[in-house]
Amino acid sequence: QFENVGFIGLGNMGSRMASNLLKAGYKLTVHDVNHNVTKMFTNVGVPSKETPFEVAEASDVVITMLPSSNHVMDVYMGPNGLLDERSPLRPHLLIDSSTIDPQTSRKLSAKVASCTLKEKKDNWENPLMLDAPVSGGVLSAEAGTLTFMVGGSEDAYLAAKSLLLSMGKNAIFCGGAGNGSAAKICNNLAMAVSMLGVSEALSLGQSLGISASTLTKIFNSSTARCWSSDSYNPVPGVMEGVPSSRNYTGGFASKLMAKDLNLAVASAKEVGLKFPLMSQAQEIYAEICKDGHEIEDFSCVFRHHYSGKDE
Ligand code: NAD
Repeated sequence: QFENVGFIGLGNMGSRMASNLLKAGYKLTVHDVNHNVTKMFTNVGVPSKETPFEVAEASDVVITMLPSSNHVMDVYMGPNGLLDERSPLRPHLLIDSSTIDPQTSRKLSAKVASCTLKEKKDNWENPLMLDAPVSGGVLSAEAGTLTFMVGGSEDAYLAAKSLLLSMGKNAIFCGGAGNGSAAKICNNLAMAVSMLGVSEALSLGQSLGISASTLTKIFNSSTARCWSSDSYNPVPGVMEGVPSSRNYTGGFASKLMAKDLNLAVASAKEVGLKFPLMSQAQEIYAEICKDGHEIEDFSCVFRHHYSGKDE
């Protein structure tokens, strides 16, 4: 359905997702404020543009993969942004895969739907927007096995599905605009709390004389089993190939977890809610970042918060 794809934000995730689109045969146009990363694409013949507006001019669909809400607002609404007043808009569909708050996704979706299309196509009266954040880290982005959580119109979701599935293994429709962003921050809230729970229990077990490996075996065949115990164990040496066994390098940075918990807290506040585990997880990850461990994988909470060792 879409042939010319614009991609903005070629960082750790975006560069790998864009490479998979290239492999799938889409015609790409890219943009990033960091010219070092656009070079990887221009070197293999992919055109790079200086502004988001120029990407929009060249594309039927534009995907953004940016650090946070401010960057996304800037790329959409800023000068020379995707929705620059010089539109009518060429792309029929704008997909934001950044992890941002659902309120910003909803605001942008309404703004996109109020634009006019340069050229009508099929039954599309207006351009549409999907919020489609992802689960799975850099390795999944590289392997094309991400899970997309998609909010917006169902028609737009169906039109985008094959494009998304060339970067991922699942694309789950979550309902209206902002629901993909809501799903993502809820997923990461549960992931943070389960990581803290597993770290706390393994630390207590060690202090009571049970090794983390033995306790993990028990968890994984008992009711405490979860992703943090059976796939991403936080204790060094219990599992191979996870960040805890390579000094907490690689993986999902604590600063990203801190950002996502801030989004969860802010979104909860919007709807008049405050939850105790969410607040505590937010405080713990803020502290980890303040203490200088912001680029370590988020499972480093075991070392810095529970095991009492600093190095
Ligand atoms: P990153 O910082 O590596 O990449 C972001 C890219 O956006 C950078 O190349 C940066 O130069 C570019 N950028 C920033 N502002 C820009 C602007 N105004 N215009 C154009 N380009 C701009 O981040 P990442 O790790 O790729 O993460 C991207 C998003 O995906 C974040 O929202 C993150 O929370 C989410 N996410 C990350 C992971 C992960 O494991 N890294 C997993 C799931 C979701």
